[in-house]
Amino acid sequence: MSGKSPNCAAILADISAYLDGELETTACAEIEAHCATCASCEALVQSLRATVGLCREAAAAPLPEDVRRRARESVRRLLENEARH
Ligand SMILES: [Zn+2]
Repeated sequence: MSGKSPNCAAILADISAYLDGELETTACAEIEAHCATCASCEALVQSLRATVGLCREAAAAPLPEDVRRRARESVRRLLENEARH
């Protein structure tokens, strides 16, 4: 599975940056484009949307530490899955 969109690892790195409050606005478009073609990232993004408002508010306010930690766990789990491919 390869295409023009960035790979999962790149997307997950963007999501990590978001969790650190460092996401560039262009990355959201990238993330959303990727999610249109990738079910596993889409599932993650959907859940992060509910918990941290991913790509809705441009990381304006710092996220609560526990929310951030839980979100990071999800990202890490997916990254580990990716690494096994
Ligand atoms: Zn993906």
